[in-house]
Amino acid sequence: MSSDIEELRRELDIVDVISEYLPLERVGSNYRTNCPFHPDKTPSFYVSPSRQIFKCFGCGVGGDAIKFVALYENTSYLEAALELSKKLGKPLNISSITKNQRTLLALDRASDFYRESLLGNQSAGEYLKRRGIDTRTLRKFCVGFAPPGGKLAEFLEREGLLEDYLRTKNLVKISEKNYKDIFSRRVVIPIRDPSGRVIGFGGRKTDDGDSSPKYINSPESDVFKKRKNLFGLYEARDYIKDEGFAILVEGYFDVLRLFSEGIRNVVAPLGTALTEEQAQLLSRFTKKVYVLFDGDPAGARSAKEASRLLVRAGLDVHVVKLPEGYDPDEFVRENGAKELKKLISSSPELFSSLINGERKDLGERIKEFREFLALVDDEVKRFALASEFCAKNKVPFDTVWEKPKEKRKKDEQKLSFKERVFLKGLLVLKPNLELKDIPLREEVRRLAMCALLGHEHELPEDVLSLEVEKIDKIFWDVLEKMKNPGRRRRKRKEDVLKTEEKQVI
Ligand SMILES: [Zn+2]
Repeated sequence: MSSDIEELRRELDIVDVISEYLPLERVGSNYRTNCPFHPDKTPSFYVSPSRQIFKCFGCGVGGDAIKFVALYENTSYLEAALELSKKLGKPLNISSITKNQRTLLALDRASDFYRESLLGNQSAGEYLKRRGIDTRTLRKFCVGFAPPGGKLAEFLEREGLLEDYLRTKNLVKISEKNYKDIFSRRVVIPIRDPSGRVIGFGGRKTDDGDSSPKYINSPESDVFKKRKNLFGLYEARDYIKDEGFAILVEGYFDVLRLFSEGIRNVVAPLGTALTEEQAQLLSRFTKKVYVLFDGDPAGARSAKEASRLLVRAGLDVHVVKLPEGYDPDEFVRENGAKELKKLISSSPELFSSLINGERKDLGERIKEFREFLALVDDEVKRFALASEFCAKNKVPFDTVWEKPKEKRKKDEQKLSFKERVFLKGLLVLKPNLELKDIPLREEVRRLAMCALLGHEHELPEDVLSLEVEKIDKIFWDVLEKMKNPGRRRRKRKEDVLKTEEKQVI
């Protein structure tokens, strides 16, 4: 009987596996010990049975049970997996490991390689220090450095994962035994999916003097989908839960910088504007988000675009206004993290700021309010917001209330026979009557106005095509019934009584 790699992961217990190599001491729901991978005097190596991972807060190394064995025994991940599966009596069928699983293993090992390379590179380390990224953050995110030359290719070759890594297009084959790492000489930041697997990298150049782009990202691949993942979500998810909200920033370094300042519930899009899928993804982890973009016109525009998507995803959105010309890093450097936290927590919710009108004039606010209101999916919430806006600003309800177009269409389809006759009659007969005296549904009233004005094109097809004999007679009957909706029932009751009388007689 053979197993695949996911099955093997499920069957292994990380505490059992690591206990065979190291003495583990229980602390709360986790275990800890001295790290075997760096000189460690205080126990900084933690094992989490609930998440089935290990992580060293001294050197940053981390992963699952198989990876621990691979590192400890100095073999490849696949060899370690094979050994462990044999011990369990269910030898792993290597050919059953899918292409994507192998690509993910290769990305994970590349990330380890970069992380270790950073430890040996003084100038990259100094660059990160200058940018205000502290050691704890570097380790949490496994920030690394891509050395020039073919070292990464050699490393992955030894791991048996070179071919798999080439599929990511992060490494390009130039000639036999000659590879180019697209991140060469850059600080490398691993990008993880929400369950923590490395799926790609972002690379920042450390010398702004050369003419290459400041940032580059992994190309799209079978495992790296920019539209569908958020940077920092895996690292921030527990903090988002604790704080009850997320902070959305523009770039990777904003996330790392704020994390270094103790603000850890922070995520960013992947080098592009926020996407619909990313907004949806975030809404699975929290219902409230603070948008913290640069304090310039471009930042304000991006913040508005992002807010639209976030509102549509059902989130409560707060837009944080940084002073003109500041980005989050500059603001923190000048004013400290405490002031930024204050600024964040005092930022009003988007709808309430439009309702209470701190900044703009009423006309502008109505326009913006309507735009955002149309994005709210929940009808009850939409109605409540519209009512609040109108009460607060003393404007009529229909200034801001408009049924979404699809809804209007649905209502048109639901016209009753009576309503259709009524509308057709108005259109054909143009009777001289006061609509306000007739109880009508909102939508029918609108259509009635159109009919009286002769705006045929506004009326639905099932009114226009309605064929009624003697419309001039039926119309007045219908009108009578509409004006006195109670009478019909009474009349019918009388009819019934009459019939009964007849029967009795
Ligand atoms: Zn360590």
